[in-house]
Amino acid sequence: MTLAATHEVERLGAEELLEQLVERFHPRLYVACSFQKEASVIMDMLLRIEPSARFFTLDTGLLFPETYATWRALEERYGVKIDVYQGMSLARQRSLHGDALWARDPDACCGIRKVAPLKEALADVDCWISGLRREQSPLRADTPKLHWDDRHGLYKANPLADWSERDVWNYIFKHDIPYNALHDRGYESIGCTHCTVPGSGRDGRWAGTEKTECGLHG
Ligand code: SF4
Repeated sequence: MTLAATHEVERLGAEELLEQLVERFHPRLYVACSFQKEASVIMDMLLRIEPSARFFTLDTGLLFPETYATWRALEERYGVKIDVYQGMSLARQRSLHGDALWARDPDACCGIRKVAPLKEALADVDCWISGLRREQSPLRADTPKLHWDDRHGLYKANPLADWSERDVWNYIFKHDIPYNALHDRGYESIGCTHCTVPGSGRDGRWAGTEKTECGLHG
């Protein structure tokens, strides 16, 4: 894949795109794992193409037990080790910013617990992969399958950008892949315990506030 051909990426299916990303970028290709259903699909598909593919997660320290269980299940199923990036400790966050920063200033909290660790994770790779899908929210409706991520200075790929909810579940059930059990309890989108409730699309994230994104994909 050449830079000039990136517009042609839109015509590629998820598997074809992953194959080209591996050819072009691996091992400087890094997959972000949120342990939502899209991460399960991408891990399964990518490891069939490249068994030494590399994965990372941002552990906020405030994830659901079901999310940590999915993390363990995926590592066991595929025999992979997912790299971990964390923001400052919760104790230090409390000493610097007081209690419940997520309630008083969720943008600052996401900045410390997600945005800063992501920057660290992406510092030494050439392309990262996320599970964004266009139908997840109006803000994500124009998500390209591949683009230059200006903020982090590398390519970003969204191989499931044009997948529907049904496409995701069909793949998961067809391949019997571990997935986050919270999806079965009404959580379509899953983030931190303090900021996530059941809901369709991304309605359950920071519900009742103006906030809709954590700042990782802006
Ligand atoms: S989702 Fe909530 S708890 Fe998690 S980092 Fe953002 S504000 Fe903090």
